Amino acid sequence: MTHILIVEDEERIAAFVAKGLGVAGYTTTCVTRGREALSLIRAGGVHLVILDLGLVDMDGFDVLRRIRDDQNTVPVVVLTARTSVGDTVAGLERGADDYVAKPFRFEELLARVRLRLRARSTGPEVAVLTHGPLQLDLHARRMRVDGREVDLSAREFALAETFLRHPGLVLTREQLLSQVWGYDFDPGSNVVDVYVRYLRRKLGAEHVETVRGMGYRLVDVGVASPPALARS
Ligand code: CA
Repeated sequence: MTHILIVEDEERIAAFVAKGLGVAGYTTTCVTRGREALSLIRAGGVHLVILDLGLVDMDGFDVLRRIRDDQNTVPVVVLTARTSVGDTVAGLERGADDYVAKPFRFEELLARVRLRLRARSTGPEVAVLTHGPLQLDLHARRMRVDGREVDLSAREFALAETFLRHPGLVLTREQLLSQVWGYDFDPGSNVVDVYVRYLRRKLGAEHVETVRGMGYRLVDVGVASPPALARS
């Protein structure tokens, strides 16, 4: 299990990131202080760190410097509201592996996390998600239905990926919103329903079932071969 440490003093953001990473299959620990983060990282077993720069007890840059002073090469993705080029360069020079500026969409952060974990090759990464006739290639960013390529927008792709990672499970609108659109999105919006409609039009309406009062579910239809995960 890949363990991600989230160092963030804003509870709302930490909870949002932890929830999303949990759905994506990662184990997370949240801490609000730099000192706690350092002792956990020193104890080992952390595969990646998501680090906010503005913490209560320490500057995130100091946390980063101390991690690297320990000769620890754990990948660090810096989260920050500071968007200036100077800060980006400073962060990367001080040993950050990547940088995500707030506000961000969850899929943006997830892409960075996956990229950094893959760069360290901490385990086999699922490259193609398959469910019956549906086949989603995460590296080539391609969707196929019965071998026929279907053109998806970035948002439709993220929605399809979320369904394919949880076949048969009911996903609520709230879960889909936070996974695909991010924490800044108005929970009262009907954007999920609109995009499910787009996806049905492209994949075939039968693949995504409406579960009344709950949400949506990817169902087994015309399963030509048993659902399988292909690994790279
Ligand atoms: Ca902060």
